[in-house]
Amino acid sequence: MFNKKVLSKGCVDFIDDTKIEALIKDTPEDAAKVREIIRKSLDKKPLSVEETAYLIKAESPELTEEIFEAARKLKRDVYGNRIVLFAPLYIGNYCINDCKYCAFRRSLRSTVRKTLNEKEVVDQVQALEDHGHKRLILVFGEHPDYSAEFIADTVRKVYSVKHGKGEIRRVNINAAPLDHEGYKIVKDSGIGTYQIFQETYHHETYRKNHPEETHKGDYLWRLDGLSRAFEAGCDDMGIGALFGLYDWRFEVLSLITHSLYLQEKYNVGPHTISFPRLRPAHGIDFDDKYLVNDYDFKRLVAILRLAVPYTGLILTARETAEVRREVMQFGVSQIDAGTRLELGGYSEDKKAEQELKREQFSIGDVRSLDEVMNELIKDGYIPSFCTSCYRLGRTGEHFMEYAIPGFINRFCTPNALLTLSEYLEDYASDQTKVEGYKLIEAEISRIDEEKIVNKLQERLNRIKKGERDLYF
Ligand code: SF4
Repeated sequence: MFNKKVLSKGCVDFIDDTKIEALIKDTPEDAAKVREIIRKSLDKKPLSVEETAYLIKAESPELTEEIFEAARKLKRDVYGNRIVLFAPLYIGNYCINDCKYCAFRRSLRSTVRKTLNEKEVVDQVQALEDHGHKRLILVFGEHPDYSAEFIADTVRKVYSVKHGKGEIRRVNINAAPLDHEGYKIVKDSGIGTYQIFQETYHHETYRKNHPEETHKGDYLWRLDGLSRAFEAGCDDMGIGALFGLYDWRFEVLSLITHSLYLQEKYNVGPHTISFPRLRPAHGIDFDDKYLVNDYDFKRLVAILRLAVPYTGLILTARETAEVRREVMQFGVSQIDAGTRLELGGYSEDKKAEQELKREQFSIGDVRSLDEVMNELIKDGYIPSFCTSCYRLGRTGEHFMEYAIPGFINRFCTPNALLTLSEYLEDYASDQTKVEGYKLIEAEISRIDEEKIVNKLQERLNRIKKGERDLYF
C-alpha cells in the first residue's frame, strides 16, 4: 500500500506510558487545585495534562459534581444549546488487519463482507438525504481496494447526489492512516474532517490488540497519521480512543497529550475528539477488565469538555438513548442519529434486530433521525446540520476564531435555526414540525441584536417559500 513509509517532520512517539501512569498514581485529590483548574477552564483556556490529571483524581461526590456543573456551563458558553447531527455511512468492510475487538477483523470468516458499488453508494446517500441528513462520515476498513483515489472518488460521488431538496454538504472520513500523497488526493475531493482513532495509546495494550505483522500493528505510523494529514494540507482532524481496552484515565490523559502535541506542532488542535466505548460485536469476546461504567463515562466526558474547551466532542449511537440523553449535557457537541451500520442498510426496511454479522459492532441507539430530533427539541437543544464554517473556509486555525464572543449569536445559532427549518419543511413528522417551530420562535426571542433577527427572519421566510441552503 505504501512504497516507503515517510513520517511527518520531526515525528516523535509523544506518548510516555511511564509519565502518564505516574500522573494517575501520584496526583493527589486536591479540592483547592481542582477549583483553580475549573476557573481556568471556564475562562476557556485549554488544560495541561497535569491539570487534567487533577480533575481525574477528583473522586469525591462533591468535587465530581463541581466538575459536572462546570462542564455544563462551559458547554453552554462555547456551544450554546446546539447539537450538530451527522450519520455514518460504511462503504467497505474488507480489512487486512486483525484487531482483536473488531467484527471486521480479517480472521473472522463469518463476517458478511461487502464494498458498496457506485449505484449502492447513490442509493444509500439518497436514503440518507430523504431522512434529512446533510453531514456524513464515510467509514472504510483498511484494504488495498480502499486507496486514497477510491476514497476521493467516493467522496465526490456522495457530494454529487442531489435527491429532491436533499444534498450532502459536508463529508468527513474515518479510514486508515495514509501517506502525504494520499492525504493530498483525499483533501482535494473536498473532505471535512479526517478521523483516525489510536484505539488505545497504551503501548503494551496496543501490541496485544493489533498483531505486529498487520498494517495497524505499526503504533507510530498510526500515531503520526494526522500529523502527516496536516502537512499534506488537510484542515480538520478527529482523534479518539476506544474506551474499554485499557484504563480510561490513561486514555483521557493521552488524548489531551495528543491534542496539545498537534496544537504545539501545527498551531491547531483536533477539530473533534471521540470516546466510543467497547460494544458487543459479532464473533468478539473481549476482556471486561477495563470496561467503563456509566458514572465514569460521564466523568470522562465532563473532564474532556473542561480540558479542551474548543474541541468538538462526538457521542455516537454506540451508546443507548438514555446514556446519550444523560451525557450530552456535559459538553457533547455532535451526535449521529438514525444510524445503520449494516453496509447498504439505509435503503432497506428497518429490521427488528440489528444484523451483527454485517456490522462492526452493535449500536445502543437505533432510533430514527426524527425521533432523535424530536427529543433534542423537547430537551431544549437546537438540532443543527450547519456546514457554513467549512464551506466559508472557517476551518483549522481559522475555526479557532470561533471563540470570539458573539460568534455563536451572530453565526452558529442563526445557522442552526436555518438548517432546522429546512428539516422541518422537508422531512419532519407533524409533531416534530410543531415542536421545532416553537423552539425557533423561542430562540429568536433570545437574540438581542435586531439586525440579526431581521436577517434571520428574512431567510426563514425564504426557506418557507422553498429556497434552501441559506446561511451566514
Ligand atoms: S478496527 Fe478497523 S483496522 Fe481493525 S480490523 Fe476493524 S476495520 Fe480493520
